[in-house]
Amino acid sequence: MIDLRSDTVTRPSQAMLASMAAAEVGDDVWGDDPTVLRLQAAVAERAGKEAGLFFPSGTQSNLAALMAHCGRGDEYIVGQSAHTYRNEGGGAAVLGSIQPQPIANAADGSLPLDEIAAAIKPIDDHFARTRLLALENTIGGKVLPAGYVAEAVTLANSRGLATHLDGARVCNAAVASGQSIAALCAPFDSVSICFSKGLGAPVGSVLVGSADLIESARRWRKVLGGGMRQSGLLAAACLYALEHNVDRLAEDHENAEHLARGLAEIDEVHVQSHATNMVFAQFPQEHCAPLEAALKEQGILTQVLYGSRFVTHMDVKRADIDMFVSAVKAYFAE
Ligand SMILES: *Cc1c(COP(=O)(O)O)cnc(C)c1O
Repeated sequence: MIDLRSDTVTRPSQAMLASMAAAEVGDDVWGDDPTVLRLQAAVAERAGKEAGLFFPSGTQSNLAALMAHCGRGDEYIVGQSAHTYRNEGGGAAVLGSIQPQPIANAADGSLPLDEIAAAIKPIDDHFARTRLLALENTIGGKVLPAGYVAEAVTLANSRGLATHLDGARVCNAAVASGQSIAALCAPFDSVSICFSKGLGAPVGSVLVGSADLIESARRWRKVLGGGMRQSGLLAAACLYALEHNVDRLAEDHENAEHLARGLAEIDEVHVQSHATNMVFAQFPQEHCAPLEAALKEQGILTQVLYGSRFVTHMDVKRADIDMFVSAVKAYFAE
């Protein structure tokens, strides 16, 4: 099977499984799982933050961060296409009593500064208290422009807002842009980093920030049901990923570019690729379902939609990309 649906589909390698099996564990709710503590410290150091906290999912890590920053009746400013707003079941509102204030993302993934400024509410009993600006990097496979991030965070801070980064794929952003993970995280008060995406671990995200913020997030993690016991087994996979699978993301990015170049040779397909591991392509509506079925018959899993997304990852090799592109070419040649 060639699975281009997402970078969440990677399976743990033998070496990763071996490091999990060898992990020293304890009860992390009691704070004494040494492998979890090691992961949290390692990620905090890589991100240039004081402390880290291990979560079972990025959704929970983002939510606990939002709840640590915002109280009931507070508000956070977020992109319409941001994962925390669009793809996390409305958790901030449902479980956090936090009002989202969405703003349309510009084509480069940014939130226009004048619109952020206009969305910040005055202190007045009529309004929710605007507490937080949340950005995402990468967003839709794009690295946010560094100059933009600095300006947006300066604006937020000047109006008394804290800032959170959904950095599910911040390692992809770092590898693609040549900036360090710490440099990309530096402007933000908190950052959530996923290990179950391109880094290849089966489970896990780490939230990083100040010691105070992480203490508050730890309480919300317990409330949200994310306190885990011998979770060093899982943290070991994330430590393995941090040590072995960051730099190799460059290979996924090259494969995505190769995939984009291949699809661009087909007249019926319109392709946009960004510098990371995602390729977006438009297919004529009438071809979507039959092409998806034809690919599936050849062992290629993708969602073919009018606006399709193909994601490269460590379980997709260059030869798999060639096979996929040939299959799409063969479909349109018929
Ligand atoms: C995957 C992802 C998350 C977290 O998702 P989980 O499946 O809950 O781990 C958060 N933000 C972005 C941008 C993501 O891609």
